[in-house]
Amino acid sequence: MIITIDGPAGSGKSTVARLLARQLGLRFLDTGAMYRAVALAVLRSSIDQQDPGAVATIAAGCQIRFEGDRLLLNQQDVSTDIRLPEVAVAASIVASNPAVRECLVQQQQQIGEPGGLVTEGRDQGTVVFPHARYKFFLTASLDARTRRRLAELESKSQPGTWDDIREQIRQRDERDEQRTLAPMKPAADAVIVDTSELDIDEVVQLLSRTVQSH
Ligand code: C5P
Repeated sequence: MIITIDGPAGSGKSTVARLLARQLGLRFLDTGAMYRAVALAVLRSSIDQQDPGAVATIAAGCQIRFEGDRLLLNQQDVSTDIRLPEVAVAASIVASNPAVRECLVQQQQQIGEPGGLVTEGRDQGTVVFPHARYKFFLTASLDARTRRRLAELESKSQPGTWDDIREQIRQRDERDEQRTLAPMKPAADAVIVDTSELDIDEVVQLLSRTVQSH
């Protein structure tokens, strides 16, 4: 069984997908972390993020592996570095590169091959697993998502102002929604869940009930 959870930045999909997978005894896949890993490799090289050929070459040389909650890029643990704000921005830029998507989609489909997976991203229900048994699309207002991101930064003692964070999220949404290749959108058969007024446990229970009621 494959369950896809797509949605914009800060919609809670990562935390929800991880908890739902644990509750249902399934594996969990964070595909955003894979795009972030490629973006980190690009940032660490001297190439231009906007140069499609150079970015494709870097992506082809990226060996990405999950070890529990850790992500290894060419054998190096980059789990913390991929969470930096500049990596999120770069990820949404390299994610419009066709060669990058082709390479990562192939790896994601391989990971999903044995089934038993809750996977989250932007295109999991539309492109990567169009035949998934359950598809969800989590949304939340821009203000709710800004509030969550600020609280997350505060808990890690990292800096960030309301206006900056809100604008970063808005720009990333725009890039993810407007790209021609695999734009962020709900699959036609996805259940859309607005999480603005819900806490994480409520969302997990809602999804879990939907899955278990079938
Ligand atoms: O979900 P997360 O914030 O980690 O994703 C980082 C970026 O990676 C997104 O803004 C998006 O551009 C890209 N992404 C994507 N397709 C996915 C997952 C992430 O294009 N399946």
